[in-house]
This record gives sequence, structure tokens and C-alpha cells, in this order.
Amino acid sequence: MTLTKKPESRPAAASWGLSKRGTPWEYAAAPEATDHIEIRREYGLFIDNAFAPSRPKETFEVINPATEETLSRVAKASKADVNRAVAAARRAHDTVWSRLPGSERAKYLYRIARIMQERSREFAVVETMNSGKPIKESRDVDVPLAAAHFFYYAGWADKLDYAFPGRTPRSLGVAAQIIPWNFPLLMLAWKIAPALAAGNTVILKPASTTPLTAYLFADVVRQAELPPGVVNIITGPGEIGMELIRHPDVNKVAFTGSTAVGKMIGRAVAGSRKKLTLELGGKAANIVFDDAPLDQAIEGIINGIYFNQGEVCCAGSRLFVQESIYEPLLDKLKARLSTLRVGDPLDKNTDVGAINSAGQLAKIAELVQSGIEEGAEIFQPDCVLPDKGFFFRPTLFTGVSQSHRIAQEEIFGPVLSVLTFRTPEEAIEKANNTPYGLSAGVWTEKGSRIFKMVAAMKAGVVWANTFNRFDPTSPFGGYKESGYGREGGIHGLGAYLDLSSEGANGR
Ligand code: NAP
Ligand code: MG
Repeated sequence: MTLTKKPESRPAAASWGLSKRGTPWEYAAAPEATDHIEIRREYGLFIDNAFAPSRPKETFEVINPATEETLSRVAKASKADVNRAVAAARRAHDTVWSRLPGSERAKYLYRIARIMQERSREFAVVETMNSGKPIKESRDVDVPLAAAHFFYYAGWADKLDYAFPGRTPRSLGVAAQIIPWNFPLLMLAWKIAPALAAGNTVILKPASTTPLTAYLFADVVRQAELPPGVVNIITGPGEIGMELIRHPDVNKVAFTGSTAVGKMIGRAVAGSRKKLTLELGGKAANIVFDDAPLDQAIEGIINGIYFNQGEVCCAGSRLFVQESIYEPLLDKLKARLSTLRVGDPLDKNTDVGAINSAGQLAKIAELVQSGIEEGAEIFQPDCVLPDKGFFFRPTLFTGVSQSHRIAQEEIFGPVLSVLTFRTPEEAIEKANNTPYGLSAGVWTEKGSRIFKMVAAMKAGVVWANTFNRFDPTSPFGGYKESGYGREGGIHGLGAYLDLSSEGANGR
């Protein structure tokens, strides 16, 4: 709907009057253009700066979760391909990359960051088409943050001695990196930027549903003229990820994904000299006290659980509300939930896009069903979902008890469980009653209460009067079943360095 058109020339007369929700203005479609991007029909594995088919040649399909249409076919790596990729990374590490002065590595990283910025529109559109996330998020969050990670770690590349005074930081060698589908490009950046800054070379395995921005990034690697073998990208099922991790010539393993697979990886790496970081699931508590700025808290709750369709490891999926403000908060929250626009991820007005896969949609539906069956009360706004694609209504449960599956298990979808508390002590006890420990949120006017809560929360990251804020300078990670090690900041750099006095790899 453009404002220059006269009312009578509008295509849909109904959208001119009151909408179904009773708001006087309905948003017309505002789709992002897709004619400026190129998705190739087929992608080979990216090894030694060249795309080549897997051996034997096998491919699998990659779809758009919002339309279920095929976007491309990508190579399915074999064990022989894993060996090739590790050999390429080893050669590049030993002969070129680890020998370059840090200031030279920095130039490459700066170049990558700038090219990502220049091609940000392309990255945003491909990310949205492949993952289902709203374009406004890929455009304003994923892509700028990914570039920011390269800028940030470029700055450290020639300052490793200053970052770790009194040590002699050395690269670890070859890094095997496995990433999930919820933030495909951003997780790539979190993994590759610190690894390269520290002088390591990498083999990255993206999730099978979302490899396309990784292969677009491979183009950037060539454009930036990185030496061959420094960045290698291979696609294939989870088992191929396991082959990669087990490879004897790999020195560092970094994984983000489910706790179940993280545990398998921990076992596979145990007893080897490989360094490991695991970033796994979460079930974050978002705690709202009665003195919190209510409207601000509502936005934080919405952002906490409906951002990226709730497919966020640190999502604020358990809301704890102080009893005295339960009713006004719930009224406002339901009203705000009803204004979220669900649908075409490429539409610039869309708030909640498509769930990444049919499998994930089924998992969400199953857990929501369990919530109903266990006696919680469900609220969903009355929005119309597209006929095709994997969509799920933003959902809120009240009357949730601590023992319900929806209060215990990671749903990884747009589903919020609301619980209540009376005292700060009760909030702390309930919030920490989870096997996870990734993130938490606290909403209160009192600074002293923020400090008390932050100290008491068993979570790697605690946000105060905000939620889901990320910054390359700030370490991120969990403990308990949310994993260990930190990504981001100087901590994330240390995870890619040998800081021991003798040198862990005997070099
Ligand atoms: P997942 O299996 O842990 O997948 C994450 C990555 O690990 C993907 O690249 C996957 O490859 C790979 N992988 C799978 N099995 C592997 C194995 N045995 N060895 C090595 N790598 C392996 O996660 P998912 O199945 O996509 O999602 C399941 C649940 O995990 C979600 O519902 C959610 O609760 C949680 N999850 C958490 C995060 C997070 O950020 N913490 C991210 C995603 C999912 P393929 O794609 O080829 O299988
Ligand atoms: Mg899996």
C-alpha cells in the first residue's frame, strides 16, 4: 500500500477499512527484492579456495522453509572429502597462515569484514530465504553482527602478546567447526573470525538445512584473496561432522547445537589433545519484578522469545512474573502478542518468519501439545498463517508448573511459558531449577537488586532491563548442560590459542 495512491485505486478494499484485528491500518506487503542475488543450482565443497564435487559425487537438496521450494543442491561430503579438507587446512596452517605476521592476517580479516558489509543485502536475502528468519532481523542483526565479529577479531590479530601478557600465544593448528541452522552466518563468523585471527585454519560444517550463506561466504574468501586452504567449508550429515571431529590431524573442535550432540562430541574428543568449546541448549529465565518499567519489559519479553521464531539457544523461554503485577503484565503481553505479524520472511514488516524445517516444526508442535495435555492454558493470537511453509503461531502458556515439559525442555520455537513468584529468593530458586545455564534476564528498577540477581543466576550471560543483546567484545557461553568455553571477546580469542609454556602441539 503506497500513500500516494488514491483510496479507490487500492487493490484490496478490505485493507482500507478496519482490519480483522480492529486496527485502522493494515500493513500492505513490502517484500524485499530478490533479483539482485544469485543462488547457484549446485554447490560443491569449498576446499583450497575451489568448489569441487564430493567424491563420489553426491548431493542433497536445500529448500526455502517459507515456501518449501528447492533453492539449490549441495555436495554431500564423504570421509575422503573430510581427509582432503583437513589436509588442505593443515598445509595452509603450517606453510602460510601461522607464519604470517599478525598484522598481515588482520588485513585479510578487515577485507572480509568490508566485503561482507558491501554485500550485506545479498547476505541478508540469502540468509532469510534459506533459514526462514525475517529479513529485518537478517538485515539489521545477523549480517551487521557477523561483519562486526570480523572487524573485532581483525583488531586482535596483531596484538596477541598484549591480549595475554607474559605468555607466548601460538595458534592451535586446524580447527573443526560445526554450526547450527538458527544463525547460520553469525555462527560462522563467531567461529571463523577468532580462529583466523589467532593463526589457525578452519574446516567449517554448516547445518544441512542452511549451508547457503556459508557458500556465499566462500565467495568472499576468494574475493579477499585468502591463501588457499585457510577456510574450507564442507556440507554433509551429522556423521560427517563426527568424522571431521575425530580426524587425528584436527587440533581444535568448536560446536554449537543441541546438548545431545554436544555430549557425543565431548565423548569423542575426550582423551585426545584437542581443545574443545561447546555452546549448547538453554532454557533461560526472564524475571520481571513489580518495580520494572512495564512497557519496556513487555518489549523485552517479546524480543526474548519471539526473535528468530524463538529458535535461539539463549531465548527467554521461561517468564517469571512477580505475582503482584501478573494480571496487568499478562494483559499487555497478550495484546502485544496479537500485533506480531507472522508470515513471509522476505516481507520487511514481518516479525515472526518460518520455522527452519518440518522436523523442528513437528518438535515444537509436539511440545506444545504436551503443554496442553499436562494442563497449562494456551494463548495464541488469531493470525492467518501462510498455506505453504513451516509456520507456527506465537504461543504463550499460563498456569505452567515447574514440572511441565514446557518448563523443563528446550522448545526452540515461539513458545513462552509463564510462571510466577513472590520473593526474589523464590525467583532465584525457580530460575536455577534447570539442567541448563546459558542466559537469564532481570527486569527491575533497583540497581542493587540487579547485582544480587546477576550473582545468584546460574547462567553464563545475564541481561538487565534488556534481552538478546550481542556484541563481539562480550564473551558468550554457558555452563552445566549449556556447554563450556566462551565465544566473543578476549575469552573467545583464548579458546583458539595455545597459551601453555611448552606448546600443546609440541611445536
Ligand atoms: P544438532 O543435531 O545438534 O545440529 C547442529 C549441528 O551439528 C548441525 O551442523 C548438524 O548437522 C551437526 N550434527 C548433527 N549430528 C551430529 C553428530 N553426531 N556429530 C557431529 N555433528 C552433528 O541440532 P538439530 O538436530 O538441528 O536440532 C535439535 C535441537 O537442538 C533443536 O530443537 C534445539 O533444541 C537444539 N539446537 C540448539 C542450538 C543452539 O544454538 N544451542 C542450535 C540448533 C539446535 P546436520 O544439520 O547435518 O544434522
Ligand atoms: Mg540433529
